[in-house]
Parts: sequence; C-alpha cells; structure tokens
Amino acid sequence: MTLELGPDDKRMKLRYAGSCRLCGRAHGAGAEAIYERARKAIRCVECDKTAVEAPPVEVVGGEAGASARREYERRRDAREQRIRGEHPKLGGLILALSDDPQSTKAWERGAVGEELMAKRTSTTSR
Ligand SMILES: [Zn+2]
Repeated sequence: MTLELGPDDKRMKLRYAGSCRLCGRAHGAGAEAIYERARKAIRCVECDKTAVEAPPVEVVGGEAGASARREYERRRDAREQRIRGEHPKLGGLILALSDDPQSTKAWERGAVGEELMAKRTSTTSR
C-alpha cells in the first residue's frame, strides 16, 4: 500500500507550486495539499480522499478477517487524523459525537463476517 498517510505526511498550504504525484494536477503556492515529506512530493486533498475511500486493490490471504480489519482500522485512523488535523481543538469532540461513515463501517462488518466464517470453517473441518 503506497497511499497510506504516513507520519510525515501533512496537510498544508504549499509554499511552492508543485504537481500532484498521483493525478499530476498542478497546484500553485498557497494551495492546500498533502505534503509527503518522505517522498518530497505532494498530492491533492481530493486524491488523498480517493486514496482513503478506494477499496484495497490487493486481496491478501493469511489470517481471516485480518485484511478487512486492517482496512477498517486504517480508514478509521485516517478519518480521525483528518478530523483532528482540520479541527485541532474540536477534533476529539467531533469524533466522539459523530459516527464512522458507512463505507468505513462496511469494512468493520466485513472483518467480523470473515472472522465468523473462519470460525465456522475451522469447526466443521475438525
Ligand atoms: Zn491529485
């Protein structure tokens, strides 16, 4: 996964003009964008949203439920980070009062479903 919001990624007003590494759109100085310090690259806020909302491209095997669970946690954390970034003072309150978006919840349901399925399968195969 290359689109995760790393600890060095920061939503900010650009000091210099640049273009998004994902869609190539140009952004002038002063425009708001996500700066990836590790890559020294920027991406648009819109692209960042797309990256968060888009379903995972790869379906990984391994522990049942782990992939969906991880995706749910990734989305939940990304949302929390975004809200806290946008509302430094009220972020915690907003998070406490609001609910996860449906798209994020679907992933949590998916994780629970996968785990149940795994439990059932392992019981019957024993
Ligand atoms: Zn972009």
